Amino acid sequence: MSLFADIVGQELALTILRRSLATGPAHAYLFWGPLGVGKEAAAYEFAAGLCCAVGGCGQCDTCRRVREGIHPDVEVLAPEGAFITVDQIREVNRDVALRPFESRARVYILLDAHSMNKEAANAFLKTLEEPPGHAHFILVTSAAEALLPTILSRCQRVPFSRVGAPVLARHLTACCGLSELEALAFARVAQGSVTYACELAQDAGARAQRERLIGWARRIPTDSPLEMQHMADEIFTSVEGRAEAKLEAVAAAKDRDLEWAANARVKARIEKLYELRGKRERRRAVTAGLDEVMRTFAGWYRDLAVVAAGADEAVLNHDFLLELRNEAFPGSVETYLAAVKAVRGTMERFRYNVDARCALEDMIFSIREALL
Ligand SMILES: [Zn+2]
Repeated sequence: MSLFADIVGQELALTILRRSLATGPAHAYLFWGPLGVGKEAAAYEFAAGLCCAVGGCGQCDTCRRVREGIHPDVEVLAPEGAFITVDQIREVNRDVALRPFESRARVYILLDAHSMNKEAANAFLKTLEEPPGHAHFILVTSAAEALLPTILSRCQRVPFSRVGAPVLARHLTACCGLSELEALAFARVAQGSVTYACELAQDAGARAQRERLIGWARRIPTDSPLEMQHMADEIFTSVEGRAEAKLEAVAAAKDRDLEWAANARVKARIEKLYELRGKRERRRAVTAGLDEVMRTFAGWYRDLAVVAAGADEAVLNHDFLLELRNEAFPGSVETYLAAVKAVRGTMERFRYNVDARCALEDMIFSIREALL
């Protein structure tokens, strides 16, 4: 399968990356844009292009192993706890001087690169200033503004954006066999996130979670303060539950990779990789789950504003149109938009490692305040 075949939309980003592989790559790239639009998947594809002897054939064993995250010349760094720490970066700084093990490059993918703390960022800067010829860094982030300007200025920027509903719907029809109408409905609900749209299309658990979230959003105007606190707990528990369910897929992938493993040394490496990946995926699943909460809450109050303004055809949650019509007070557009703004404020705070449980409660109470 050719490189980037699974990335939906993102023409600008893919043009930059393909040109880069064809003309000679830079040492550092910044993949930035919202969650769920394929930045991480594109980072693995691009890394395959950097390592593959012919610039990313998509067919060879190097390409396959990089894409599966088990190639020894590709290291993935992600926050351990809340931050990417200076110890993690020091290890990279030592490691980067070594020759590649097998391929023509050493690639470091830094997930949630914005979570480098200051010490880590300064240590990283040293390597970024004078990297060895074979070294390439791919910084992946949804909060580029939180990175040091001195780091940003040394990276080639590769922007990713939300995917438009028609493009997303075409993808869902092709990959999940949905009818056009169903595909468009999920595409609108997902608000530009490919990952979330595919989950909604393929996973009954994701659809159930969305309905629960809408149920909670609808309760905020009438709940007591105590009930609102409980709601924050319930939402957080549900997000963690969903994260656990997603980890089952990681376990299945590990079993597949172990079957491919040629000897005990490779097996041990795969075990270790998956231990790290498990931790990383769990954290990322919780982040994605919280993003889903925000998206759903913001979407619900946006829809109430849209219906209150009499523009029913523009709602995102079409399957709830009846409820929206019943619950939207005419003349309350400003109020609903204030609630959307309250959710977005929480979203911003989440990017900077604010305690999730507290932020959820804060979001619920500020929505309620906006609605009063
Ligand atoms: Zn290849």
